[in-house]
Amino acid sequence: MIELQGLEKRYGETYAVENLDLVFPDGQLTALLGPSGCGKTTTLRMINRLIEPTGGRVLLQGQDTRELRPEELRRGIGYVIQQIGLFPHLNVAQNVATVPDLLGRDRRDTARRVDELLALVGLDPETFREKKPAELSGGQAQRVGVARALAADPPVLVMDEPFGALDPLARDALQDAFRDIQQRLKKTVVMVTHDIDEALRLGDRVALMNAGRLEQVGTPDDLIHRPASEFVRQFLGEDATLRQLAGRPVAAFMTPGPVPSGLPTVDAALNARSALSIMLRDGTDTLGVTREGQPVGTVAWSALREHESRSA
Ligand code: ADP
Ligand code: MG
Repeated sequence: MIELQGLEKRYGETYAVENLDLVFPDGQLTALLGPSGCGKTTTLRMINRLIEPTGGRVLLQGQDTRELRPEELRRGIGYVIQQIGLFPHLNVAQNVATVPDLLGRDRRDTARRVDELLALVGLDPETFREKKPAELSGGQAQRVGVARALAADPPVLVMDEPFGALDPLARDALQDAFRDIQQRLKKTVVMVTHDIDEALRLGDRVALMNAGRLEQVGTPDDLIHRPASEFVRQFLGEDATLRQLAGRPVAAFMTPGPVPSGLPTVDAALNARSALSIMLRDGTDTLGVTREGQPVGTVAWSALREHESRSA
């Protein structure tokens, strides 16, 4: 169990995190959710002491983490970040084995464990063991990052927007894979995300932060049906409309016609929420739509927005 007691991080006059009391129970995934700048990353990095608090404390299995050496602490906590930093000159197996090698574990045990972990994250060991990071897609690299974080078998895993840089399809696939992994391994996981869907899909519990403070912690059901504040209600409410978009294909919002050259394109069967994410990512308000690779029309931001306001 990880316990935050009155945890605080102040930069000059501003509080990045203020008087935070929060418990992360063993074997559960707690999603640390909230808008950009609300203090999620700061909180996470105070847990593994990449950032020192200006007040309060962090207890790991009842022990104040200040009593542990930072290196020791970080070895016991697997860490996954958005753009996983794989060592470019090492192959996949060597990257996954970094921490066990550092700890002087038996080479043959480690090799076996690396293969198990690659299979666990959905990468065929035969195919991927020898590949270099440059030969991997973003989703594959992120899978290797998850395998590496699990390699020393830490009881605790902290993840900061671990799937945030992936395209929607790769993200969905890795979220599914991770949910299966967590069901088997039952780690104590703290996962930072600003993505409500991701928090509700993966979290046993969700802790919603706002401006450095905790608004509510509970099960996804608690937050949706028993919001503790207006902020919680609104934050999750915005998602209700996005959720409806998630249930409908791009084709439902499409204007048939030619696709202007240079537009990013999506398949007509892609869900409309993912299309919205791609627009945000690529900074475009129109996408081309294809069916079996053939251009069939365009979908505009305004068409998706109209749907949102109608259903709100
Ligand atoms: P989140 O991860 O929720 O997006 P962060 O924890 O990164 O938010 O940041 C919380 C707040 O603290 C933000 O307002 C940010 O600008 C501020 N902050 C973070 N790091 C620093 C720093 N090193 N110096 C000053 N302010 C910071
Ligand atoms: Mg952050």
